[in-house]
Amino acid sequence: TASRAAIGNATRHGFLVREGDALERLSKANVIAFDKTGTLTYGTPEVVVVESVSEAFDESEIYRLAASAEQFSEHPLGKAIVRCYKKTGAAPAEAAEFQMLPGRGVCARAEGKRILVGNSALLREHGIEIGSVPGAEAQLRQGCTVIYLAVDGRFAGFLTLSDTLRAESAATIAALSALGVQPVLLTGDHENTARAIAEKLHIREVRSGCLPEDKLNCIDAYQRKAMPVCMIGDGVNDAPALKKADVGIAVGGVGSDIAVDAADIALVDDEVRELPHLVALSKRMMTTIKCNMIFSMTLNFIAITLAIIGTLNPVVGALVHNAGSVLVIVNSAFLL
Ligand code: ADP
Ligand code: MG
Repeated sequence: TASRAAIGNATRHGFLVREGDALERLSKANVIAFDKTGTLTYGTPEVVVVESVSEAFDESEIYRLAASAEQFSEHPLGKAIVRCYKKTGAAPAEAAEFQMLPGRGVCARAEGKRILVGNSALLREHGIEIGSVPGAEAQLRQGCTVIYLAVDGRFAGFLTLSDTLRAESAATIAALSALGVQPVLLTGDHENTARAIAEKLHIREVRSGCLPEDKLNCIDAYQRKAMPVCMIGDGVNDAPALKKADVGIAVGGVGSDIAVDAADIALVDDEVRELPHLVALSKRMMTTIKCNMIFSMTLNFIAITLAIIGTLNPVVGALVHNAGSVLVIVNSAFLL
């Protein structure tokens, strides 16, 4: 009864609890792992800089090729590149052979060229040398995300995007720390960007440059140390970690369906600020469950003893038994 009442309360705060025992598991979590893009940030970044490093392409061509390759992308960064490009009044070229590489980027064929768009690890994986790019490094230090573009196996240019931190992220992290849950940042983004964000939010533990499997391994490492983990994420790249964690919470609005499918709880309207409420609610629910059990067992024990010695007659016995159930239900209903 307490669990149902708590789920009812969670629903009114925008959480769709998909697994009956998810709140029970959440009450035990002492680490809460956050994904960055889309979870702590709004996930609607703006393109700040487009730069070409190749003589064959100018800035507008770099921008067009990136937008063309990303047009089927469901990653917040990919969608942002297409959205910002369309705002300039231009339309991306047709693309084929689109492939999404979670935690790295995308590849596609457009205008007869093979295009790779993503982080430095993606280009390195394909044997493409980036070298030193002073323009990109300056942007990284400011907390921007740098997306590299390669055309036909050659590094051609980069775009930088700046995402806004959710206004409520800092307060949410502070409230969760106060509840005794340690926040951790798990991101596929560059170390400098991750550090800049973590510093603003006072998160001490940061893992950057994570591929989906790195996020999974990080969760596993905590679980091996007997620390139950709650993971919050929005992307396809977070799905394995959401599934592996003791409790997975998907940011459903900006997020992908795959993340929602892998999670135990979905945050329907992306109100990250409600997280401390959910954690506190789960702890209150456990207290209610324990109180109810102790109360009803004690009541039954006393009533049975009184019945044995003949003080309690059958009619009063039946009444006491039902009164116990009613009190348990009333106590649980306070969770609503
Ligand atoms: P986060 O963990 O912060 O949500 P992801 O793991 O989704 O980030 O992505 C990690 C990195 O991979 C991004 O910072 C970006 O550099 C690159 N990346 C992922 N998807 C795309 C994409 N569709 N287009 C360009 N870059 C991408
Ligand atoms: Mg994300």
